[in-house]
Amino acid sequence: MKEITVIGAGTMGNGIAHVFAMNGYRVNLCDISPESLDRALKTIEANLERMVKKGSLDAEGKQNTLDNISTSTSIEEACAKADLVVEAATENIDLKLKIFKQVDDAAPAGCILATNTSSISITRIAAVTKRPDMVIGMHFMNPVPVMKLVEVIRGYATSDAVTATIMELSKAIGKIAVEVNDYPGFVANRILMPMINEAIYTLYEGVAGVAEIDEVMKLGMAHPMGPLTLADFIGLDVCLSIMRVLFEGFGNPKYAPCPLLVNMVTAGKMGRKSGEGFYDYSSKENIIVASAFKQSR
Ligand code: NAD
Repeated sequence: MKEITVIGAGTMGNGIAHVFAMNGYRVNLCDISPESLDRALKTIEANLERMVKKGSLDAEGKQNTLDNISTSTSIEEACAKADLVVEAATENIDLKLKIFKQVDDAAPAGCILATNTSSISITRIAAVTKRPDMVIGMHFMNPVPVMKLVEVIRGYATSDAVTATIMELSKAIGKIAVEVNDYPGFVANRILMPMINEAIYTLYEGVAGVAEIDEVMKLGMAHPMGPLTLADFIGLDVCLSIMRVLFEGFGNPKYAPCPLLVNMVTAGKMGRKSGEGFYDYSSKENIIVASAFKQSR
């Protein structure tokens, strides 16, 4: 396996391209937005430079990595010679189904098709292709160059051989791969998101405030950040959409998204990326702003 095509050059796509290129693979990074491609190349360069300064990569390694990356705005062109396609485009089911039909038509017969989706069914994506046995989930964690885990998700039709190839490849790029099956939320988000949702319910019901909830989970459970800080980091819209996938997928009320989460997303409070979530990111202090019940008097 030599030629890897990464579709989507956003937060995850640039990290995935970085890691494959640094490990000697040729990467074709593809996005519909030329601005995203430009931003991705700048981010990769800056992240590689940080590694050089830290001494974990030499200047030649940095240059070789950059030389291994080419860019494209055409899926057809980017997939024509690919051995593996890793899709990391926007989390939207209709968009992903459209991309996978296009990729399936454009990629060579032996090419494995992987998706970095956080929550969409691998089996559903595979079903729109003519090679469902060769479609698999490769769920990297953010930030990709730093985080060790790849959750490798077998769709209902994914073959043993394809799973073994992707497990091996994940190891070859310095990651630790864990194989799981394709049910809503897989493993990582099935466990993480209900915990975050429960933290939001704890705030909503007035059991404790934002800082107290985060402090209990940080100090008591040795989590590196509290669940509400983490929710702001992930994006509250992303948290809500994953809760909905769990709720619809299992039909179990225990996965109902907290009404406070729904309200915040409806009001455009998405966390860090919008400047406000459970905390306000407009100043350096990260002041607490979220509250379930507001009253003016
Ligand atoms: P992002 O919004 O940062 O980037 C998405 C990119 O996809 C954008 O650059 C956009 O221009 C591009 N895109 C949209 N339509 C396209 C098309 N038709 N062809 C090519 N490119 C297209 O999103 P992200 O956070 O990098 O997430 C990407 C995927 O990774 C999603 O499936 C998400 O669920 C998953 N994921 C995200 C995280 C995270 O923490 N952000 C973690 C794990 C998995």
